Amino acid sequence: MRLRLSLIAASIALALPAHAATTALHCGDVFDAAKGSLIGAQTIVIDNERITSVQPGKVAVTGATVIDLSGHTCSPGWIDLHVHMGQQSNPQSFSEGFRLDEVDFALRATAFTRRTIDAGFTTVRDLGGTITPNLRDAINAGTIPGPRIFAAGKSIATTGGHADPTNGLNNRFAALVGPPGPTEGVINGVDEARQAVRQRYKEGSDTIKITATGGVLSYARSPDAPQFTVEEIRAIVETAKDYGFTVAAHAHGDEGIRRAIEGGVTSIEHGTFMSEATMRLMKESGTWYVPTLSAGRFVAEKALIDGYFPAIVRPKAIAVGAQGMDTFARAYRMGVPIAFGTDAGVSPHGDNAREFEFMVEGGMPANVALQTATVNAAKVLGVADIGQIAAGFRADVVAVPGNPIEDISLTRNVAFVMKDGVVVMQQKAGVAL
Ligand SMILES: [Zn+2]
Repeated sequence: MRLRLSLIAASIALALPAHAATTALHCGDVFDAAKGSLIGAQTIVIDNERITSVQPGKVAVTGATVIDLSGHTCSPGWIDLHVHMGQQSNPQSFSEGFRLDEVDFALRATAFTRRTIDAGFTTVRDLGGTITPNLRDAINAGTIPGPRIFAAGKSIATTGGHADPTNGLNNRFAALVGPPGPTEGVINGVDEARQAVRQRYKEGSDTIKITATGGVLSYARSPDAPQFTVEEIRAIVETAKDYGFTVAAHAHGDEGIRRAIEGGVTSIEHGTFMSEATMRLMKESGTWYVPTLSAGRFVAEKALIDGYFPAIVRPKAIAVGAQGMDTFARAYRMGVPIAFGTDAGVSPHGDNAREFEFMVEGGMPANVALQTATVNAAKVLGVADIGQIAAGFRADVVAVPGNPIEDISLTRNVAFVMKDGVVVMQQKAGVAL
């Protein structure tokens, strides 16, 4: 009996590594996202995928792999709450849907996921794209590199609204494919609203996206018409809760934004034509505003190029691009809760950090802008263990040379990225292992 017990003990010892994988990051400075300030040089100790301690100064950690990031500021890995991993806008975008297969988009997307994480974004919320749940699974399995993804899958729209997949088809094609329904993400009425959410659950979504108003890059005239009733939105929000999902509402027009808030959504995406009365409502109800300034700037710029967008898109792109910055500046001054999102996929993947610069340009201090992509974004996702560098949190760390609070453009100069304790990217120059 004693012999048998000792044999079992020996086999257990063989099955476990000698000690957990420990890493020590010697950071020249650290952004404390909860406080919103830099806290000086720190040693971040990581065991496997989690931070176990953060100690002031350069502390020797026995048995640890040491990574020297002195001269750098370490921040919690950034979170972009609005991306579309399955696409990237280009002058051919409108015909590609007819010519390319989903596998073509998926192969391209493997480059986008890499660019996103190399830019320091360790977590993203993907708000619309049918291949994204598959990308998420491939990243989680270690097949391709990329950020942690919370995927909405197909956006939920109403007939003829933004994200109705048959908008712009000629009559012959429209007749061939037939009118889309809840399975395809198009609803009319509360029963179909519930069915569409349950369908997303079935398809493996993590969150729900609705298109509460018209949009810019679609074959529909109005960028701002409300496109759901409050009852439909409420049915979506209540059904989403059954599955632990939050709801993000794409919305440009004021009436659509107001209905989405009344229906109980967690975040308003874009928010372009939001009135001051609606801003007050956002503040009172604690609804998050995700401004996506990058997308507004990008489409307004490209609308000046002949032929880049179809004629129906061009005037919408100009109007929305001009308004976004102004709305953001007013909402920030009013104290609307703001979290970070770019709409990358409209703007180029990997350029996500430009959003920080646009926010600062709109009057937000750099340290607050960094909070929108860390602590605030984690709250929007409802995830308790990302968005901070502190014991118990997931070891998602991004390092930039110098002080990003003095010069926010340094966020585009990422030198080191770690996700879940694994080094994903490390520039050779200036960073020694
Ligand atoms: Zn979007």
